Amino acid sequence: MKKKLNLSTKILIALIAGIFVGILLQGSPEIADKFIKPFGTLFLNLIKLIVVPLVLASLVVGTFGLGDVKKIGKIGGKTLAYFLLTTAFAVILGLLLANLLKVGAGYTIPVDATADAKEIPSFIDTLLNIIPTNPFKAVVDGNMLQIIVFAIMLGASIMAVGEKGRSLREGFEGLAEAMYKMTGAIMEFAPYGVFALIIPVVAVHGPKVLLPLLKVIVVVYLGCLLHAILVYGGTLKIFANYSPLKFFKLVLPASIFAFTTASSAAALPLTMKSSEEMGVPKSISSFVIPLGATINMDGTALYQGVCAFFIAQVYGLNLTIGQQVTVILTATLASIGTAGVPGAGLIMLTMVLQAVGLPLEGLALIAGIDRVLDMARTSINITGDAACAVIIAASEKELIEKPVKTGGIPA
Ligand code: ASP
Repeated sequence: MKKKLNLSTKILIALIAGIFVGILLQGSPEIADKFIKPFGTLFLNLIKLIVVPLVLASLVVGTFGLGDVKKIGKIGGKTLAYFLLTTAFAVILGLLLANLLKVGAGYTIPVDATADAKEIPSFIDTLLNIIPTNPFKAVVDGNMLQIIVFAIMLGASIMAVGEKGRSLREGFEGLAEAMYKMTGAIMEFAPYGVFALIIPVVAVHGPKVLLPLLKVIVVVYLGCLLHAILVYGGTLKIFANYSPLKFFKLVLPASIFAFTTASSAAALPLTMKSSEEMGVPKSISSFVIPLGATINMDGTALYQGVCAFFIAQVYGLNLTIGQQVTVILTATLASIGTAGVPGAGLIMLTMVLQAVGLPLEGLALIAGIDRVLDMARTSINITGDAACAVIIAASEKELIEKPVKTGGIPA
C-alpha cells in the first residue's frame, strides 16, 4: 500500500531539501535570487492575499461567536495576560542567557559599522494609531492592528444588535468559511513555496556572514528553544494538561512555515489550521490567533534582549540592572508594536537601544545576520500564539479532545 505523505512531512522535506540546494548554490547566489526566489515570492503573494480578509472575517466571527460581551472581556483579558507575561519572560530569558554566555565578549566592532537608523513612531503615536479613523483605509493599507480593533468592535456590535444583525453575521461567516477554504487550497503549494524561499536565504547568507556573529545566533536560537520547551511546554502541561509533545508535533508545519517566511502574518492561516488540529474550537482560534500574530512576539522580544546586551558589550558599555529592567519593559512593548513581517523586529530594536542610550550604529552589526535570527524568532512568535489558544480553550473547557491516530503521540 502506498502511503500518502501529510502536509507537514512534505513541508519538512522541502525545508531540508531547500537548505541542501541552497548550500550547493552558495558559489552563485544570483542564480538562486534570480530564478528560484520568484517562485517563493509568488507563493508568498498568494498567502498575503488571504491575510487581510481572513483576519477581518475570522475576528469578526470570532468575536460575536463568543456569545456575550462578558465572555469577550474574559477571554480577551486572559489572552492578553498570557501574551504579556510570556513576552516579558522571553526578554528576561534572553538577557539571562546573554549575561551567562557573555554574548558580546571577544568581538570587536568593524570600522565600517554604520546604520541607517530608521524613524520609529513614539510610544504615544503607536497607541493613538491603534484606532483607525477610517477602517476601510486600514483594510486597504493592511494595517493589522487597526483591522483587529475594528473587527473586534464590529463583532461585538453585531452581537449587540441581535436579530437585526443576522444578514451581516451570515455574510461574515460565509466570508470566513470561504477564506478557510482558499487557505486550504493554497496550502497545498506550501512545500514548493518553502523550497523556493529557503534556497536564496541559504545561498546568500552562507557561513561567511554567519561566523563572526555565531555567538549571537547561538544565544538567540538556544533562547528560543528553551522558551518553547519551558514556557509553552510548561504552561500547556500545567494549565491545560495538554501533552507538549503532541503540541509541538501539531504546530510543526506552521513553525516551519514561519521559519522560512519570517512572517507571522504569512504563517497565520497555517497557525489557525494547526490550532484547530490541536482541538481548539474555531470560536476561540479565530479570536486568539489573529490577535497573537499581530501583537504576541515572544521570539522578537527575546532577540531584542539578547541584541541590546550584545551591542552594549561590544561597545564596552555594561548594562546596569536598572537598564536591563528598562530593556525588559521596552522590548515587551516594542514587540507588541512589531508588525508580523520580515525584519520588523530589527527596526523596533531601535526603540530598545534608545531607551537605554545604546549606540544605534549597533544595528548595523546585527543587520547582516538578521534574517537568520528572524527565522527563529518568527517561529517562536507563532508557536506562542498556538500555545495560548490551547490554554484559553482548555480554561474555557472547550478543548475538543481529538482521537490520536495509532502510532501518534498520546495526549
Ligand atoms: N518577522 C517577525 C514576525 O513576523 C517580526 C520580527 O521581525 O521580529 O513575527
